[in-house]
Amino acid sequence: MFKKINHIGIAVKNLGDALSVFQDTLGMTCSGIEEVEDQLVKVACLPVGESKIELLESTSPEGNIARFIEKKGEGIHHIAFEVGDLEGVIEDLKRKGVQLIDQKPRIGAGGIKIAFLHPKSTKGVLVELCEHKDQD
Ligand code: ZN
Repeated sequence: MFKKINHIGIAVKNLGDALSVFQDTLGMTCSGIEEVEDQLVKVACLPVGESKIELLESTSPEGNIARFIEKKGEGIHHIAFEVGDLEGVIEDLKRKGVQLIDQKPRIGAGGIKIAFLHPKSTKGVLVELCEHKDQD
């Protein structure tokens, strides 16, 4: 069902500060910065092998990332797994009683379909599923 870890999302107060750590100090390369308006975040993407690090800065004090940092401080916010058929996986998890934040897919950074599971169902870890269809 899960193909690989697509990315790890890290909540940061300031993208510039975070990029100076991950890019300048750790030597990763930022492949782009994108604002996802409906999620109130700016996302910097840093590919690492087949996966990515996503640095997430809130664009509003009301945003999920701002509230996360207020409660827990900066750090790992979510893990995103790649799946083939997102609708199918969501239906399967619903049948198994998994609580979902998104009852159906929505569009995330990069224009791909995503859905979040509720951390209550996954041992406190916020899990994102993102659809990646194999090219044919
Ligand atoms: Zn994500």
